[in-house]
Amino acid sequence: MQPILEVRNLVKKYNQLVAVDGISFALRKGVCFGLLGPNGAGKTTTIEVIEDVIPPTTGEILYQGKSRSPSFKEEVGIQFQSTALLNLLTVRETLQTFQSFFTKTITIEELVELCRLGEFLDQYNDKISGGQRQRFLMALALINRPELLFLDEPSTGLDPQARRNLWDLILGIKAEGKTIILTTHYMEEAQYLCDEVAIMDYGKIIAQGSPDELIRQYSRGITVVLPRERYALKANSFPLPVREVKDTIEIKTDDINQCLEQLISHDVDLSDISVRSPNLETVFLNLTGRKLRE
Ligand code: ATP
Repeated sequence: MQPILEVRNLVKKYNQLVAVDGISFALRKGVCFGLLGPNGAGKTTTIEVIEDVIPPTTGEILYQGKSRSPSFKEEVGIQFQSTALLNLLTVRETLQTFQSFFTKTITIEELVELCRLGEFLDQYNDKISGGQRQRFLMALALINRPELLFLDEPSTGLDPQARRNLWDLILGIKAEGKTIILTTHYMEEAQYLCDEVAIMDYGKIIAQGSPDELIRQYSRGITVVLPRERYALKANSFPLPVREVKDTIEIKTDDINQCLEQLISHDVDLSDISVRSPNLETVFLNLTGRKLRE
């Protein structure tokens, strides 16, 4: 099947600085694709070149197999990190204004249902909460019934409930067959939403695949965590390396069965045991060696 979007050898330079250094990828229709990477890796620049907001230095972008036509911007939806909204308009009036910019549009009723705007539709733009604002910005990005949707750090600054709500909203949009390109600093978000992710660093893609594939490929070991007091008396003779972290002990193992057998054979009480598997954040830190921005 022809990819909906293809990026070929994309390079973007700002004078001497190479912000994007020859990246290529192709997206199947209907996937959620995550672009991850530390601050300054080149994610926003990549997205802005694909969106046709800034020109590439070299490289090619194909949309549905062809160079982007002037109508490309009519066919995609963009949720920017920050969008200036007129405070003297209500949410409904803003949606109506944006509707008038496009020929093919979604109805306000559909948007209210899809993005759950009902409770604040007639509220002024500057009187809505952070979570409501993100749903509103999503609605604005969907106003022209786009096939391809760009979400640049959509959940930054949201509380955990609002973030979960937004994730469900994004999954609902994906279920309608839309293709989504997402940038995020939240690895949990990428793991929850994305079928495929690319990790960028210094302008290059350094790993790409499904979250599960990347976890299998780039991380090892499971961490067993126990309260320290359950362990203390038997510590001397235990065969595996043990790390003390606050009031717990952590044992990293490649063989969980053997580790548990050894704990039992050393009379360790397992009542409060917890087990931590590697996740996308482990992969990210293993590959880039840097902390994420919160
Ligand atoms: P963040 O996670 O902080 O948003 P990012 O991965 O999106 O980072 P970019 O914003 O794409 O990274 O920036 C990539 C590099 O390009 C950085 O070194 C940045 O300083 C530089 N850069 C971005 N925009 C410009 C510009 N307009 N002029 C000069 N340099 C720029």
